[in-house]
Amino acid sequence: MIPSEFEYHAPHSVAEAITLLTQYPEEARLLAGGHSLLPMMKLRFAEPAHLIDINGIKELKGISEQGNVIRIGAMTTESELIDSALLNEKCPLIPAVARLIADPQVRNRGTIGGDIVHGDPGNDHPAVMLALDARFILQGPEGERTVPANGFFLGTYSVGMAADEILTAILVPVFASSTGYGFNKLKRKTGDFATAASSVVVQLQGESCADIRIALTNAGPCAFRAEAAEDLLKGQVITDALIEQAAQKVMAACEPDEDLRGDAEYKTHMSAEMARRSIRDALTKAKG
Ligand SMILES: Cc1cc2nc3c(=O)[nH]c(=O)nc-3n(C[C@H](O)[C@H](O)[C@H](O)COP(=O)(O)OP(=O)(O)OC[C@H]3O[C@@H](n4cnc5c(N)ncnc54)[C@H](O)[C@@H]3O)c2cc1C
Repeated sequence: MIPSEFEYHAPHSVAEAITLLTQYPEEARLLAGGHSLLPMMKLRFAEPAHLIDINGIKELKGISEQGNVIRIGAMTTESELIDSALLNEKCPLIPAVARLIADPQVRNRGTIGGDIVHGDPGNDHPAVMLALDARFILQGPEGERTVPANGFFLGTYSVGMAADEILTAILVPVFASSTGYGFNKLKRKTGDFATAASSVVVQLQGESCADIRIALTNAGPCAFRAEAAEDLLKGQVITDALIEQAAQKVMAACEPDEDLRGDAEYKTHMSAEMARRSIRDALTKAKG
């Protein structure tokens, strides 16, 4: 199908892009990798009269370490995340997840920023951001603000930012010692979205769990944390029996939609299984 007619803009700075967004309120959309927006335009689910291509904005690119935080430009592609020596050393969860997103064509163009802002419950980065306790830098006509990932995902295709704001960067904490991660994703075939997926980050103090975040993909209207399961495990020496109890709490928190990937009951059970595996993987890594 062919998208409806639009005017194309290619700004070279964030300021220029924000000016365009304010100039065409309600009518403009940012174009990043295009792998979610263009299919929606072709189906006429999105019909922006102005398309603002942010691929030429250099300040939105790059991965750097700033103290105990890694800053990832919103226009960093999945392939760049996979190839980043810094991320592979200091925050390996992100490249591990990017490797399982779609196929090389999508990964070469699709960006971490687009994946987060799109608000698709099947996108993988939102849950990863929740598990990592990431923060997002948003820039708009009133200036810049930094918001936590926790609370950013509001519902399907709904995130906590204004239409005239741009996600410029993502801040993720460098893993402290005795921290481990797990990511498990069930998909029907290579290139498909998750039927269910879970991202977990655990920090141990001695044998006990000092902190844990368990986040789910495609288990509800948007990515979310299974907080009751986290509360059950915090402060405990995590045993198989406790993991099983946590998995029950995960299931209680899930409310997936039925779709071609499975009915709600199947997806709920698979979400719990992905969480079980991710908790175990995270513990193994945290113990070194
Ligand atoms: C076949 C296929 C399989 C896929 N499988 C997966 C998968 O398994 N897991 C997964 O996570 N994703 C998957 N995707 C989605 C893919 O990762 C997309 O690239 C991603 O959802 C959107 O990123 P993008 O850079 O392409 O953004 P675009 O499509 O360009 O934009 C998406 C939305 O975000 C907005 N936007 C983009 N960047 C910004 C920004 N910096 N600030 C504010 N708004 C912005 C746009 O205006 C638009 O509304 C798949 C896509 C395809 C085509």
